[in-house]
Amino acid sequence: MSTQIEWTQETWNPIVGCTPISAGCENCYASRAAAGPWLFNHPKYKGLTKGGKWTGKIGYGTVKELEQPLRWKKPRMIFVESMGDLFHKDVPFEEIAKVFYIIAICYWHKFQILTKRPKRMLEFFKWIEKEKRGFWGGDFAVLCAHLPTKQYEEMIEPYLTYHARMRKHYHPDLPETPDKLGDAGIYFKWPLPNLWLGVTVENHDNIERIEYLRKTPAAKRFVSLEPLLDVVSIRCLTDNTGDRRYTDNLDWVIIGAETGPGRRICKLDWVRKIIGVCKFHYIPVFVKKLEINGKITGNMEDWSKNLRVREYPKQEIKNASM
Ligand code: SF4
Repeated sequence: MSTQIEWTQETWNPIVGCTPISAGCENCYASRAAAGPWLFNHPKYKGLTKGGKWTGKIGYGTVKELEQPLRWKKPRMIFVESMGDLFHKDVPFEEIAKVFYIIAICYWHKFQILTKRPKRMLEFFKWIEKEKRGFWGGDFAVLCAHLPTKQYEEMIEPYLTYHARMRKHYHPDLPETPDKLGDAGIYFKWPLPNLWLGVTVENHDNIERIEYLRKTPAAKRFVSLEPLLDVVSIRCLTDNTGDRRYTDNLDWVIIGAETGPGRRICKLDWVRKIIGVCKFHYIPVFVKKLEINGKITGNMEDWSKNLRVREYPKQEIKNASM
């Protein structure tokens, strides 16, 4: 485990940098980390921050960094882009496609993408739909198309493994046949079985992000209420009247208080209400960090019993309406 984020096991940041977009960004931990001594002089982070804040510039890692999940042989849960937002307006769809390609072929891992820009995430999937008309091999070919040739060749092996696995997953009745580069598109389907997509909803102003999320194809869809900033945001999730407008089709809810300098209040009552309603709707909940007696703690022993909830999504795959 190389991250302190409680709900994942690893982070992977092939693309970094961002711009604040809503209230939850006010004390962005990622910009502070990018401006810190460990990362400031890293080539990928050069020029990305000024005075501890994002400049809006986007940084791209090396091919080696992009391929990192291929080298992690042991399966793990990977949080993609903890140091930015993959769907930032200045990250071209072609670059996002490369990230999705790696996710697609690294079937032994699970990947979690969390965004505050789900509208653009949905646009990305529509872009693939449009682009694939020009590619033999369909969606999968679109994901491969923008890789440099050398990289593409080096990835033939995982590509073929992926192909074989997809055939088994989606077409278990088909006999095994020799794999051929370029065939994978025939078997490729959304959602990717190993990709979870999520949105951050820190207050009521951003509740519509869930609507975009629900239209995107994902094995799991999750909502991160972190930093949880006000009770208004949760009213939609805590509606015990049976209105499932916002809770239907959600697989996971993460709740967390803001941490770090300048942190804003997160009332334990809000958290209790959300847990209650998630239970009502059978949505697994993961409580990350809370403020107890003026101190932020992720140690569940410090919390009252009814707050000690750390659940994960159930294992089935849900289809999307695109
Ligand atoms: S979207 Fe995330 S990374 Fe970007 S500024 Fe907001 S909190 Fe920071």
